Amino acid sequence: MIKKLLRKNIAELKPYSSARNEYNGQNAIFLDANENPFRSIYNRYPDPLQNALKEKIAKLKNINKKNIFLGNGSDEAIDLLIRAFCEVRQDNIISINPSYGMYQVCADINNVELKMVSLKKNFQLDINQMIKSVDKYTKLMIICSPNNPTANSFDKDDIIKILDKFEGLIIIDEAYIDFSEKESMINLIKQYENIVILQTFSKAWGMAGLRLGMAIANNQIIEILNNVKYPYNINSIVQKIAYKQIDEEHIKNEHVNRIKKQKEYIKTHIKRLDFVEKLYPSDANFFLVKVKNADELYYYLKERKIIIRNRSKQHLCENCVRITVGTEKENNILVNELYDYDIKRFTKFKQNTPEFETSKNHLHELYKFLELQNRVVKIERNTKETQINVELNIDGKGIAEINTGLGFFDHMLEQIARHSMCNLKINVVGDLHVDEHHTIEDTAIVIGEAFYKALGNKKGIERYGYCLPMDDSLAQVALDFGGRNWIEWNVDFKREKIGDMPTEMFFHFFKSFSDSAKCNLNIKAEGNNEHHKIEAIFKAFAKSIKKAVKKDLDNNELPSTKGIL
Ligand SMILES: *Cc1c(COP(=O)(O)O)cnc(C)c1O
Repeated sequence: MIKKLLRKNIAELKPYSSARNEYNGQNAIFLDANENPFRSIYNRYPDPLQNALKEKIAKLKNINKKNIFLGNGSDEAIDLLIRAFCEVRQDNIISINPSYGMYQVCADINNVELKMVSLKKNFQLDINQMIKSVDKYTKLMIICSPNNPTANSFDKDDIIKILDKFEGLIIIDEAYIDFSEKESMINLIKQYENIVILQTFSKAWGMAGLRLGMAIANNQIIEILNNVKYPYNINSIVQKIAYKQIDEEHIKNEHVNRIKKQKEYIKTHIKRLDFVEKLYPSDANFFLVKVKNADELYYYLKERKIIIRNRSKQHLCENCVRITVGTEKENNILVNELYDYDIKRFTKFKQNTPEFETSKNHLHELYKFLELQNRVVKIERNTKETQINVELNIDGKGIAEINTGLGFFDHMLEQIARHSMCNLKINVVGDLHVDEHHTIEDTAIVIGEAFYKALGNKKGIERYGYCLPMDDSLAQVALDFGGRNWIEWNVDFKREKIGDMPTEMFFHFFKSFSDSAKCNLNIKAEGNNEHHKIEAIFKAFAKSIKKAVKKDLDNNELPSTKGIL
């Protein structure tokens, strides 16, 4: 049945029998293949049928080794299938549009016609049209599911409908199956001798650089592919590394899970963007996104060294880009750039036009949302002695707006913002006519509380910070946002006041901060110039904060062995 679909020359082919086909044992004296006997490891030809590796894969996929063909990427399998089954300039292939570009390239190289049947507007298969396009020369049908670049999967029932009507080979390219919520169609090989499933180690398995793909099918088809391939198509290193990696399936699964989580992250953000017209549902590790101007977005991101795929020239994909899901960090950078792009587009609209008005509202929402994403708090505290407003953005740019009524104190608080890169807005109305005490102490309490609140669940933060020599004075500040307040203070002042601040209040400031931020502070300073000494302490304090609040997006865990902070 399969044999009669073959090209005549392939049906009659007497395949090359390599030296390594003849003897399967290991500890023999190999004088059969004209290899260099001295160097070890790579001096021998690899196993042409990759038996050990296939046994591993067979177990993994719960199929028989005889149903597996391994190729130099699944692209090799596509090429070989065309080469084995399609007579040049006579036979034809049916595929879908839009889909993976290699099908057309392989068909062209083999000088075989590829007939593309458009997907429906909803990217589903147009089965009737596909069946109608079959003629007596149609040997293959190639269907990619989940499909690249549309990211959706096709129904098994639809594939079965085609299988029941079409007598040639149906090739299902499942390159993205590991990311899919749908099951693989591998089991169909048991019922249908004319189905071929392509899978690859290039995507979820993270071995694109190795070049290893597979075709899974009825053993007649596998035998044909083995006869047509180059004898040693998978080199020994690839066979060895892949063998080992397959043992670490849990790592692949972990990566797939992270990518799935990141898909949700990207979805939440992309949906908010004004220039996004449509985010198509994805069953793969990428998104197809319809935007207002795909070329513009593509070049904008490229200039910022973020490379996405512009798919707007493809059928049904006008103004569409394809975005692969990256690491947590990469996606975060991408999302930030997309927001920037959105905001910059807004500035182009002329005032008083409808676009301007919609964008203004949109932008307003966007800013509100972005603030929620950042670690931002606002605190207002009113007592008889002081009225204090503090706004803190830990993920800021070091912007300070301070007004406490005490010039020197303002100057010190500015150091905190500038050197920690937090944005800090402080406004204090205190009972300075009595003395400075309440103003300084209460301000410290509120700043500490602001850090405590802004750090939130503390997941992914560095937690510890320290800073050594600063300027001409020696100031050391170590801190731990671990949840317990404590202060060690090793500083002497010879003067009673610096500017308008009593020096004894510096200890009170840091003590109050550590109490309300629930942090552990250890401060030491030496030096002759009192002004420099205290300034160095504030700067070192700020630098320690900067280190400690830093968030590692790749590792969103609590920085504690106890599991709580
Ligand atoms: C990436 C991809 C492949 C994989 O090709 P390899 O040659 O195995 O790396 C196959 N099919 C589709 C649709 C793909 O997107």
